[in-house]
Amino acid sequence: MSSENREFHIFLFPFMAYGHMIPVSDMANLFAAQGVKTTIITTPLNAPTFSKATRSRKTNSGRIEVQIKTIKFPSQEAGLPEGCENLESLPTPEFANNFSKALGLLQEPLERLLLEDQPSCLVADMFFPWATDAAAKFGIPRLVFHGTSFFTLAASDCVRRYQPFKNMSSDSEPFVIPNLPGEIKMTRAQVPYFLKENIENDFTQLMKQAHDSEVGSYGIVVNSFYELEPVYADYYRKILGRKAWHIGPLSLCNRDNEEKSYRGKEVSIDEHECLKWLNSKKPNSVVYVCFGSMARFSNSQLKEIAAGLEATRLEFIWVVRRGKNDDDVGKEDWLPEGFEERMEGKGLIIRGWAPQVLILDHGAVGGFVTHCGWNSTLEGIAAGLPMVTWPVSAEQFYNDKLVTQVLKIGVGVGDQKWVRVEGDSVKREAIEKAVTQIMVGEEAEEMRSRSKGLAEQARGVIEKGGSSHFDLNALIEELSSHR
Ligand code: UDP
Repeated sequence: MSSENREFHIFLFPFMAYGHMIPVSDMANLFAAQGVKTTIITTPLNAPTFSKATRSRKTNSGRIEVQIKTIKFPSQEAGLPEGCENLESLPTPEFANNFSKALGLLQEPLERLLLEDQPSCLVADMFFPWATDAAAKFGIPRLVFHGTSFFTLAASDCVRRYQPFKNMSSDSEPFVIPNLPGEIKMTRAQVPYFLKENIENDFTQLMKQAHDSEVGSYGIVVNSFYELEPVYADYYRKILGRKAWHIGPLSLCNRDNEEKSYRGKEVSIDEHECLKWLNSKKPNSVVYVCFGSMARFSNSQLKEIAAGLEATRLEFIWVVRRGKNDDDVGKEDWLPEGFEERMEGKGLIIRGWAPQVLILDHGAVGGFVTHCGWNSTLEGIAAGLPMVTWPVSAEQFYNDKLVTQVLKIGVGVGDQKWVRVEGDSVKREAIEKAVTQIMVGEEAEEMRSRSKGLAEQARGVIEKGGSSHFDLNALIEELSSHR
């Protein structure tokens, strides 16, 4: 069969962490719904996450299918424990280096699949820098998926390029990010360690290669929408000169309760029970507290969160993941004495994994305490919520600036330091103050109203005639004619 006659076929190769896998599941559903043959490449232990989220869905145009193919994850070869195929299952953060090594070993098996299937294009995560070369070997375009916003792509590029933190006399003195529109302020303590410390390891090397391979790629796919951050989308395209398509918010492709619940891991609460609990609450009265799939807090920090929430006298849903270093995970010594009894009916604690989008979209939820992972941030925006920002690591401090300084739909809890896993120590008074600020009073209403405006726009952009719908189709058209 000549390449012109071959069906257009897209390969999606997501990084093995929930914050990257979840939006790629959504992306796969989106491409498939446009009639594109779509295949996700992953490893055996990560495959169920995708099969659940991409199970055939009925649309107006009929059934849509996403294929899933697996390649072996080289845990042993990279010095990782057996069964460790996801960033979330690293025994300690130090194993991140081994994980980076394993990612490099995936090139050969992926190339074998490219040879076998001959797809038309490869969308590979930023953490696979070698994918640009791999795609080139087969004469197909490689697109990059970072999983973050235009704002963060632009801001982190400016910080990496101009290194403004170098001129500061202390970790806490604010600097304005040079050349970035909007006079955005941050501090050296908030810059990721791999940018400011002179460390050479598999991970820091990977980050450098990721940057180079992005520049050499065909373009990037962004889970965002133009109207949310036009200045930074323009900056990324026009000043940095990169080709980009915005096709988000991806989470909005989940329309019914079932689709909203099946994202990532098995949920730790019955979705009907969760909805029943929410249905019994007044509109905008519940604050939802969740820190994504990776961040873990110490017991003392969890106790402060509990005390802070109790002090607000507000109703809440709090998703708790325990630290891995606890001697006894079964012990409940992270909760203040009698906390759950006092909070009965008022506070719902979900130990493990929550159906986040289902909760955020419920009318009873009026605010979101978030670690500013990009998926959570955008899901909060799509639900029209004001936010308390509590960034921890990765690129979360940049997303925090977008929410608090640009969009003005949230307030910071006051943590100041980029850390690899455990959260900074934030006191109960600060938590109480920030949560109250987004839930009660005039300022809260103003933030909520701004966020609701963005949510309305978000729903419009994915419909026919909307900017993300347009970009998705423009991307498919361009890639189809590329052959
Ligand atoms: N998530 C969820 N339930 C949880 C925790 C997280 O559904 O209990 C989802 C959340 O909706 C988001 C993703 O996991 O889509 C987390 O991605 P994000 O970028 O916010 O943070 P990360 O986990 O990468 O730090």
